[in-house]
Amino acid sequence: MGTAFGGDDASGRDPNLWFQRPCGDGQPQRAVAFVRRSPSTMAKLEVRKVTKRFGAVLALDDISFSVDDREFFVVVGPNGSGKTTLLRVIAGLARPDAGEVRIGDVNVNELPPAQRGVRMVFQGYALFPHLRVYDERRWANLNFPLKIRKFLKEEMLKVIATVTRRVGIESDLFPRKPDQLSAGQKQKVAVGRALLIPPKIFVLDEPLSNLDPLSRAHVRDELKRIHREIGATTLYVTHNLPEAMAMGDRLAVLNRGTIQQIGPPREVYKNPHNDFVRLFLHSYEFPVRPW
Ligand code: ADP
Ligand code: MG
Repeated sequence: MGTAFGGDDASGRDPNLWFQRPCGDGQPQRAVAFVRRSPSTMAKLEVRKVTKRFGAVLALDDISFSVDDREFFVVVGPNGSGKTTLLRVIAGLARPDAGEVRIGDVNVNELPPAQRGVRMVFQGYALFPHLRVYDERRWANLNFPLKIRKFLKEEMLKVIATVTRRVGIESDLFPRKPDQLSAGQKQKVAVGRALLIPPKIFVLDEPLSNLDPLSRAHVRDELKRIHREIGATTLYVTHNLPEAMAMGDRLAVLNRGTIQQIGPPREVYKNPHNDFVRLFLHSYEFPVRPW
């Protein structure tokens, strides 16, 4: 079932209690309380010596790195460098030929996508083509993950109101089906849907690539803010260098299925370890230096 929203247990509620009903302590409540995770739900992600081939193509060549709990880790690299394959292997949608994916110190190689606590925003959106963006009375793209987990109606309304406001999904889009949306609008719906029930680990595959500059800056800031609130360990793929520089705690540069360099963005930019990293990062003329 919908691996796009994978990541929770069979009971229908996220085991880490990400979402809580507002409690009645007399304080003004936000519609959705994204709660901080307790230390017992550490979600470090580790990729150990992962190799993935497609016939003669070596898409991932003995890749190893780890992302700390709550870290915002950005992966950049040219087309075909293996970024999407890496995210698919982590989400459990592709099987590595060798190596391990570990989440919170557990090998998840044998776990199906829905049991990994990983949610992926797909480069191709992965919206349901036959469902509207949102409809209070019917199954729709935005309420699907909530309905399938049997959220109460009033909870559902609150979560959807909050997420659509934060991501900037206008209500006039609600009755439309995906083929009636622009690429940028689809992308916002895909990001919004992924945010309804925050996961342990978020993997985002170029989630803002089709947004206009204004929406892009808005959703980017919102993603960072949400990341600070919920602290989900995040792996973010982009080939937009300013975005990578601005968002990442650390940056990995990928080329031909191998990691060329990992470090804080500023350090990698200033001190590239090889010609590829230098050429790739310096190919973009920053109008203003990113620091
Ligand atoms: P990126 O996301 O960085 O653009 P991908 O991970 O999509 O790169 O692809 C890495 C390499 O693996 C490319 O050479 C691509 O053509 C190849 N590849 C990816 N998926 C498949 C597949 N399902 N079948 C065959 N080759 C694939
Ligand atoms: Mg890709």
